[in-house]
Amino acid sequence: MSEKKQILVTQPFLPPLDEFNEYLRQIWESKWLTNNGKFHQELEKALCEYLGIKYISLFSNGTLALITAIQTLKITGEVITTPYSFVATSHALWWNNIKPVFVDIEPETFNIDLNKIEAAITPKTTAIMPVHVYGNPCRVEKIKEIADTYGLKVIYDAAHAFGVKINNNSVLNFGDLSVMSFHATKVYNTFEGGAIVCHDEATKKRIDFLKNFGFANETTVVAPGINAKMNEVQASMGLLQLKYIDENIEKRKKIAELYRKNLKDIKGISFMHDLSGVKHCYPYFPIFVNEEYSRTRDELYEELKKNNIYGRRYFYPLISHFSPYRSMDSAKPENLPVAEKVSNQVICLPMYPELEIEDITNITLIIKNI
Ligand SMILES: *Cc1c(COP(=O)(O)O)cnc(C)c1O
Repeated sequence: MSEKKQILVTQPFLPPLDEFNEYLRQIWESKWLTNNGKFHQELEKALCEYLGIKYISLFSNGTLALITAIQTLKITGEVITTPYSFVATSHALWWNNIKPVFVDIEPETFNIDLNKIEAAITPKTTAIMPVHVYGNPCRVEKIKEIADTYGLKVIYDAAHAFGVKINNNSVLNFGDLSVMSFHATKVYNTFEGGAIVCHDEATKKRIDFLKNFGFANETTVVAPGINAKMNEVQASMGLLQLKYIDENIEKRKKIAELYRKNLKDIKGISFMHDLSGVKHCYPYFPIFVNEEYSRTRDELYEELKKNNIYGRRYFYPLISHFSPYRSMDSAKPENLPVAEKVSNQVICLPMYPELEIEDITNITLIIKNI
């Protein structure tokens, strides 16, 4: 067999280099590299417009944005969250000295199971931190109802949900705060990057202080803030990416449709469908391998690798299996049966705008003919 190219789970979209060079030239000329520069300000404005939100504060990465979101609302004690996410969701709580309390997920959307939240609330609970997993919106109205009833804050980890809308309203408009990631592997990237979305000017101001050491002005520090500012190179990349984002999400949608067409009717393989009323962003294409398939999930995963196709088992292992968390009561597998099951079935197939039709055909043929 001839040497085959490697196909990874994702590949970042990069705009034409000469367009980026033009931004770099301006940055060199101005010598303003970070601290709320021109492109930083432009990007905050442009993102508010594109996403349909009121206030955004840009960050150097999503994890620092999560950590700062928790600081913004002075969350303490225990926070209810999901084990079925990237580990940073719980790590952000850990860095704030907060105990994550894991609640199981729903089998349809892979988001936190609303019917199991109330049973996990204790006198120490101060907030809920759900994740819009694979960009599937959480049932935000119901979460608000629970949060209001028990006096809890809601911080959404919206790292997967760039541009996602419910009935034409951004999913970022729900919850007290939403946190985004613009990491290289995400639908929209600024190399590394992130943001907090909020709904009023005073909160935006506080977030801006916190990401800049807590400085409110030259001589006043209002809190032990951190350094999490987005720099001008990242911000200019963000401005350029916005020019191509609609086209890229459209390409992802076409890829998802082709995968679905090719994979339907394979016994033991299932996948997600678009939810009605939702504008999706197609960050990942997870498939779920059950007992009816001719091989185990890991056998399929290894077989794909042998063919130079590098899927990823997002999210396996569950966060609740990692060493900082596994001894907690809520991390016990019997508390999280759906998450445990899904985590053992999932493979995310390659998904990125420049993935070629021929590659999709090859990937799905391997799955079909193994
Ligand atoms: C990527 C991701 C993060 C972390 O974002 P970074 O920008 O990489 O720090 C947090 N939560 C989820 C669900 C993610 O996918």
